[in-house]
Amino acid sequence: MGNKGSKQTSPKKVIVIGGSYAGTAAVSLLDSHFEVTWVERRPCMVHKMNVRAAVQHEWIDTALVPSDSVLTRGARIQGDVTAIDFGLKSVTLDTLDGSKTIAYDYLIIATGSRSFSPLDPKFDKLSNSTMDSLKHHFDSISKSIAGASNVVVLGGGPVGCEMAGEIKAKYPDHKVTLITRSKFLCDQMHAGQAGSDKIKAAMEKCGIKVILGSSVNVPADLRSESFIEPNKVLIPDGEGSVDLIINCTGSEPNTRFIDAKFLNDSKHVKVNEYLQVDGPVFAIGDCTDVKEPKLFVTSGTKKFMFSFPTGHADIVAKNIEAMETGKNLVPYKPAFTEKSKPKILLPLGPRASVAVNAPGFFANMKAKDYFYPAQFKFSKNKQVPKLPK
Ligand SMILES: Cc1cc2nc3c(=O)[nH]c(=O)nc-3n(C[C@H](O)[C@H](O)[C@H](O)COP(=O)(O)OP(=O)(O)OC[C@H]3O[C@@H](n4cnc5c(N)ncnc54)[C@H](O)[C@@H]3O)c2cc1C
Repeated sequence: MGNKGSKQTSPKKVIVIGGSYAGTAAVSLLDSHFEVTWVERRPCMVHKMNVRAAVQHEWIDTALVPSDSVLTRGARIQGDVTAIDFGLKSVTLDTLDGSKTIAYDYLIIATGSRSFSPLDPKFDKLSNSTMDSLKHHFDSISKSIAGASNVVVLGGGPVGCEMAGEIKAKYPDHKVTLITRSKFLCDQMHAGQAGSDKIKAAMEKCGIKVILGSSVNVPADLRSESFIEPNKVLIPDGEGSVDLIINCTGSEPNTRFIDAKFLNDSKHVKVNEYLQVDGPVFAIGDCTDVKEPKLFVTSGTKKFMFSFPTGHADIVAKNIEAMETGKNLVPYKPAFTEKSKPKILLPLGPRASVAVNAPGFFANMKAKDYFYPAQFKFSKNKQVPKLPK
């Protein structure tokens, strides 16, 4: 690996693995210059930041974003990548028609991470990963939430706060309690004491009970489940009879198909400052070990919205072009570090929100629609679902 790319003659075939925020951005930037093969195990993109889709049945269609029009020249394959051969420069995948191996000149790994929250459905077999099963998944979550009257949300990051806010907004009579081990809300987003206090006050104003610094000891084998059975854990005294516990505590990188020598201790893909894994192989988005909060805004492209920030996909598109033309590679500079505090925008249902390090106006915008129209348009869909009432 180095910062000077070598000149190549016909680097035409790019494989992009992963069809979410990072992968969609990379494909859209490379499509006009390369023969792109795009592999994604789902039939569409799941706009997983759209937490409302898990709570309100009418919102399901706004979270399932068709990706068929993003590529204009190459092919999108519904497949599950099972191996990469870095030496032979090939990728092996299971498809609905059996196993295939395809060659690349450049490879972009954008396989992200699986959130333990219900927003990231996982299917046992590729053939079960259909539009119907995705809809069924979201439908059954919203039904479980509707039928519960005392809900506990585990995890005080943005996902937990938004989940609690959405449930309380839709079901004001439900008792909703957020419990987090941390002393602060949105700790990993560097909210700090003042930011955490602001978020807590906004949540309490909505009628949500917030318990900080309290460990709910979840047995190891249940930690990646989206729902934890109340009788399997000890809920702090005074919470009454809890009938639903939603796990919003974390995620694990989707990197099992990658040789361990390319992964760090937490199983994220090791990249250098150019987001390069090894030679013509790059990794972008949540699957990487870049030291910054894992966000959709940094994983993709500044072309998505507001021209900010320069994302992983922007840098990798530039670096593949640089390798093609023998120019210097461009380093990635994280937009958000502890010093440059990420903007935290938290909808608490459609009519309430809270912002930290950002104007409240942006949080209100996100609360309106979770930016789903922007995602549909970015994925070149002519039809954008109407805003549900
Ligand atoms: C509920 C929730 C709310 C969020 N809200 C925000 C927010 O408001 N703002 C923000 O900036 N960030 C938010 N985030 C974080 C944001 O969603 C992530 O940073 C973003 O999803 C990262 O995008 P990605 O493309 O790298 O990975 P992912 O979104 O994780 O996508 C990876 C894709 O790769 C596919 N894949 C995985 N393995 C394979 C394989 N072997 N073969 C083929 N395909 C594979 C998966 O199916 C998936 O489609 C939120 C996250 C969650 C869970």
